Amino acid sequence: MATEALGHGGDENESGIRQANGNGDASVPGNGKHPALPVLEDMIRIQSVNPYFDESGEGERAMADYVERRCRAAGLAVTRQNVFPGRDNLIVELRVGKPDKTLLLEAHMDTVTLGGMPDALMPTYRDGRLYGRGACDTKGSLAGMLYAMERAARNPEAVGGDLVLCASVDEEHAYKGLLAFLELGLPVAGAVVGEPTELGIAVANKGCVRVAATTHGKAAHSSMPAEGDSAIMQMMRVLRFIRERLEPELASRAHPLCGSPTIVVGTIRGGTQINIVPDRCVIEIDRRIIPGERPEIVERELAERLRRELAPEGVKLTVERLLLDWALDTPHDAAIVRAAQAAAAAIGLDDNLRGVTYGCDASKLQELKGIPSIVYGPGSIAQAHTNDEWVPVSDVERAAEFYWRLAQTFGRL
Ligand SMILES: [Zn+2]
Repeated sequence: MATEALGHGGDENESGIRQANGNGDASVPGNGKHPALPVLEDMIRIQSVNPYFDESGEGERAMADYVERRCRAAGLAVTRQNVFPGRDNLIVELRVGKPDKTLLLEAHMDTVTLGGMPDALMPTYRDGRLYGRGACDTKGSLAGMLYAMERAARNPEAVGGDLVLCASVDEEHAYKGLLAFLELGLPVAGAVVGEPTELGIAVANKGCVRVAATTHGKAAHSSMPAEGDSAIMQMMRVLRFIRERLEPELASRAHPLCGSPTIVVGTIRGGTQINIVPDRCVIEIDRRIIPGERPEIVERELAERLRRELAPEGVKLTVERLLLDWALDTPHDAAIVRAAQAAAAAIGLDDNLRGVTYGCDASKLQELKGIPSIVYGPGSIAQAHTNDEWVPVSDVERAAEFYWRLAQTFGRL
C-alpha cells in the first residue's frame, strides 16, 4: 500500500493511526482506519446542500456545528462568522506566536443538490472508494484539514506558523463565504484551498467572463419582412463571427498549465411568434480566460470587437455582464508552493505543479488580498456534481497527511 509512505514525522506519541487492519485493504474500514475517514463519513451524513440550488437544501449549519464541536474538543479557538441567516463561516485558529507566517486552510462546507444520487447521505465503501454527496467536492478535503488542525492542536510545537482553518459557506453559488472571510482582514501569508485535484499541487486555473449579447432589430408582420429587421438573422452573423474568427484565435494561444482560452455560446433565445419578424435575440456567452488575461479587459474587448466588426454588416448589438471571475496564477517560487512541494516530496507524493480547469476560492484570495494560494485535495473534479460522487479512500488519507505535513513545513522554508 502506498500509504506506507505517509510518515508520522516522529513528533508525537500517537500510535495506531496507520495500524494495519488485518486484510491490507485500506478501503475496508477497520480499527486501523485513518482518522480522517470517520470524519468524512460523518460529514457525508450531514446534509449541507446550498439552498440556492434546492429549497430543501439545509445549508451549512449542521456542518458548522460539527466542525465547531470537534475543534472545541481539541482545544482550538473557534469563531462563527455570520454570512447569511443561519449560515456561518467557521473560523478555527491555532496561534503559536508566528502570525506573520499564518497558513490558511480553506474548504467549503456546502454541496450541490443531492439530485438523483442514490444514498447520497449514506457513506458507502466500495472498491477502494468512498461514495456520498460531497465526498470529493469538497468534504474529503475538509476532513483532511480538520485532521491536520486537530493534530496540530496536540502538537503545536511541530507547526511552522500560525494556522487558520476557514470552513466556508456558499462556494458552490457565489463565493460569498470566502468573500466575507476576506473582509475580516486576518493576516495570511499563504493558503491552500481544498478542492479535488487528484493530489496534484495546482497553482493555476482558468477564470471566466460571462455575458449576455443582444441583437436589436425591428418587428414587422411576416407577410412584409422587408418592413422589419430580423434580430435572429443578425445573431447568425454574431455566431458565425464567434465560430470563424474568435474560436481559432483563442485556440492559437495556450497557457502551459491551463491550455487554451475558450468561448462557448450556451443559450439562445429569440422571437416571440412564427409570423413576426423578431426584434430581439439574446445569447449567453461563456468565455474562459487563462492566466495573464484580465476578465474586465477581456469583457470590454469582446464587446467592442463584436460591435465594431459586425456593425458594417448591420448588426446592432449590446452586451451585458453576467459574471467575471479571475484566473489563478500563483508564482512558482511563492513560499506556499515551495512548502507544498517539500511536503509532498517528504511523504512520497507527486510534487509537480499543475493547473485545473475549474474556478474556486483560490483566485479570490490571490486577487483581492494578494495571498499566494494553491489548490489541493483528494478525488477528481470528474466526480464532482455527479450522481456518482466518490473519492478514492487512499486519496483522503494522503491528502490529510499532506495538509498536516504542509502545516509543519510552511513558515520553515
Ligand atoms: Zn468545491
